[in-house]
Amino acid sequence: MIFHVLCFETYDSTLVFWVMGNRFAQYQSEVVHVKCNESLLSSVVWCIMSLSGNRQDMKVGVLALQGTFIEHIGILRQLGVEAPPIRLPHELNTLDGLIIPGGESTTMLRLMKSFGLIQPIREMTRDGLAIWGTCAGMVLLAKSISNYEMETLGLMDMKIRRNAFGSQIDSFEVDLEIPAVGEKPFHAVFIRAPVIKEAGPGVKILSCLSDSTIVAARQNRLLACAFHPEFTNDLRFHSYFLNMVSQKLSHNPEDRILQGIQLVS
Ligand code: GLN
Repeated sequence: MIFHVLCFETYDSTLVFWVMGNRFAQYQSEVVHVKCNESLLSSVVWCIMSLSGNRQDMKVGVLALQGTFIEHIGILRQLGVEAPPIRLPHELNTLDGLIIPGGESTTMLRLMKSFGLIQPIREMTRDGLAIWGTCAGMVLLAKSISNYEMETLGLMDMKIRRNAFGSQIDSFEVDLEIPAVGEKPFHAVFIRAPVIKEAGPGVKILSCLSDSTIVAARQNRLLACAFHPEFTNDLRFHSYFLNMVSQKLSHNPEDRILQGIQLVS
């Protein structure tokens, strides 16, 4: 395999590779420990070859019933990942990860029920499927909703408040500190966004607003954020999820209990 590496650059804790003039891939430095100077070009080429193999093997579906699925699919493809739109239960079978996009959670829930997706997603989560819910997707992942009567997937041990900032005209953008994705603040777009009111003991808080409102969290192989990383050109949150997807799932039943997989009933 021949790679024509024209350029690579650092973007805080992330390495960005440009190959033949195209943005080829982006990796968190926690995965690629390479200093970006030209004398290490051969190491970088080696990293591209080995990691591109991993990413090409990875299949991350995006629930494509409603909402911002096209944007998520575009970013995953930029990152070199196979990213099929998911509408039917059998399409879930070969996935390593799944993104539930932003949109309208009640509409998505209704469509998920009609398409028979609820139970298969719950079962696949028990078997280790990694899921990332953004905005409405975060609402659907939650165990409970504080201000609205609706069913959810009930996978992540957190209580959500829907539309916590008000209506569409109260949408806003803000630079957030998210240490897990790097030092540089992440420009976050909040549109009729939910927030996390309570998080269970197994849930790691990844980011809060300046008033301590929780807006991003992770519970082992489940990831949630109240905003829309798919509306920015910053690929770090998607890279973070891909790193999470590629982490091996333990086959030890006790580890799996620690990983929160027992949450699915
Ligand atoms: N308010 C919407 C809901 O609860 C989420 C909005 C969004 O995804 N931007 O479904």
